[in-house]
Amino acid sequence: MTTILVNTDPPSMVTIAANSFSALVVSEPRAAIVADERAWQLHGPALLGSLHIRGLDATSIVVPAGEACKSLVEFGRVHSRLARLNFTRDTAIISLGGGAVSDLAGFAAATFLRGIAFYTVPTTLLAMIDAAVGGKTAINIPEGKNLVGAFHQPRQAHVNLGVLSTLPPAVFRQGAAELFKHGLLADDALSCAVLRPGFGPADPDLESIVAAGVTVKVRVIERDPRETGERAFLNFGHTLAHALEALTDHAVPHGDAVGYGMHFAALVGWRLGLGDVSPKTLAFLDYQRPAPFALPTFDALRPYFARDKKTDSSGWRFVLLDGARQPILRRVTPAEVEPVWQKFCDDLRELWNEHSRLAPSAT
Ligand code: NAD
Repeated sequence: MTTILVNTDPPSMVTIAANSFSALVVSEPRAAIVADERAWQLHGPALLGSLHIRGLDATSIVVPAGEACKSLVEFGRVHSRLARLNFTRDTAIISLGGGAVSDLAGFAAATFLRGIAFYTVPTTLLAMIDAAVGGKTAINIPEGKNLVGAFHQPRQAHVNLGVLSTLPPAVFRQGAAELFKHGLLADDALSCAVLRPGFGPADPDLESIVAAGVTVKVRVIERDPRETGERAFLNFGHTLAHALEALTDHAVPHGDAVGYGMHFAALVGWRLGLGDVSPKTLAFLDYQRPAPFALPTFDALRPYFARDKKTDSSGWRFVLLDGARQPILRRVTPAEVEPVWQKFCDDLRELWNEHSRLAPSAT
């Protein structure tokens, strides 16, 4: 078991176990497990059993799987259920599932009765090393992703690595995007571990790799819990990622979009004369094997870049890397970025062609 203390206000912690829920300690007498329907089916009974054995009065609120749960309708439904169950201020919400459900459940916990306790039990690699840690919560509205939300630190994030055995390989590799990003930002050994042949849920070093990914995020949020400064660096690759998710109505999953977005940001950095990390980001895409999608025109991306949270009244700002481990927030002009789009599209077409020549069993 690994324990990582998180020095935030209030303090928090992340526990990582090989195959158990028993280290999840809920202090409140009553809790609702807000679960993604797939995660609930696969792992809900084991979590509920573990909590019941220890005397917790726990119930479940099951929501649609994936991004579909991050809506105003589901948000309202969770609140109505909590109210009908007579949940009081000394109760808790526990999220069970990937990053989508921890975003929804955390926002419900931040707002029900103006805030009740929140715990996370992430079941995807992405949620384990990113979404379930750090206290950012959000839902989507038709105008954009994560536009409505709050900061609400989980009291504990409990990672049971055993749940990754049921995760489809493509979803595991989607999560590896945020892990690789944490490595590029702060830990060379971590980005190299992700690119090691055969990296997957059965990796014998998975516990220490996940702990390293969590630690990068935790150290950043301890210094900047509300994203007034360096926390924005964790947004590396997300300017294009959020645009692709919105343009494709989430047909491009978040982790794949971040994989694409990191390569695009690396190419922008290379064009601006910063250290060139694009061979590494392309090697990551080769590992990730993200599904192809219809490439938009650059003009179609402009409104999304203009609405990005890093954009201010002076224009677009991208997180770029000046070589590995040197993130910067850089103002960029459309004229600087547009030529990179063509190179990015060429790289992707070549990669997708290469992947389509490989046996489907390798996907
Ligand atoms: P997800 O939550 O959509 O889950 C992906 C799929 O995996 C779903 O269909 C789900 O049902 C299934 N699944 C989950 N666990 C499973 C398991 N153990 N076995 C089998 N299937 C399982 O995707 P994600 O990649 O975990 O999260 C993406 C979301 O996280 C996005 O909405 C993104 O905006 C958000 N996010 C938030 C933060 C944050 O700091 N709050 C950070 C990064 C990403």
